[in-house]
Amino acid sequence: MFGWGEAGKRHPLNSVHQPGERPSREQAARRNAPHRRSARPAQVVEIEGYSVTLLRKPIRNAYLRIKGPDGHLEISAPLKMPSAEIAALVSRRRAWIDMWRARYNTNLLQGKSIDTQHWSEERKKAAREVLDERLARLLPHWALIIGKRPTAIRYRLMSSRWGSCTVNTGIIRLNLVLGELDEDLTELIIVHEMTHLWVSGHGKEFRERMQAYLPDWQERRHRLDEHQLF
Ligand SMILES: [Zn+2]
Repeated sequence: MFGWGEAGKRHPLNSVHQPGERPSREQAARRNAPHRRSARPAQVVEIEGYSVTLLRKPIRNAYLRIKGPDGHLEISAPLKMPSAEIAALVSRRRAWIDMWRARYNTNLLQGKSIDTQHWSEERKKAAREVLDERLARLLPHWALIIGKRPTAIRYRLMSSRWGSCTVNTGIIRLNLVLGELDEDLTELIIVHEMTHLWVSGHGKEFRERMQAYLPDWQERRHRLDEHQLF
């Protein structure tokens, strides 16, 4: 799965060093700032047609980051780097910026990037209702086939996983996001977590059980993996 962590990486703009030999930001800051020059407050400015959050810091090199789902630009620049030099750096990075932004936009348009941080109470309630309704049908069905049932199901918005199972307590947690995706993906996760009531880990026995319960589980898994949580 790839998420904003990967996309949000920073790109050295004017570093002449190889990554391995580049001094740490702290070292650079110390070398660059013998008189304890300090960072200035962030400014939002327009550079080369982009809206950019500009951070002036006692550092040696400028860095460009693409942040968040809207692809906002953030530049950390040395205190005394001239604006024209910063603009030139942005200009040189234009293709890179536009490539990342196109990727964000594609994902957003396909509805495949899902923000798990800013859900309204109504949205959570709607997803909970969908899951309640699905589980009322799915749980009895799968409890009969699998031969075990969870002691409780809890919902939670999570950015790192679709579900989890605590075997000693028999409690299964489902990501609330599942309430906004196709029902067969909810079913995949519920069967996966219920299978953990027999088998921990994802070894041979686990895969054999999944194969027997849901012959198309891998295809469903791939479809689920297309959704990126952040
Ligand atoms: Zn698992």
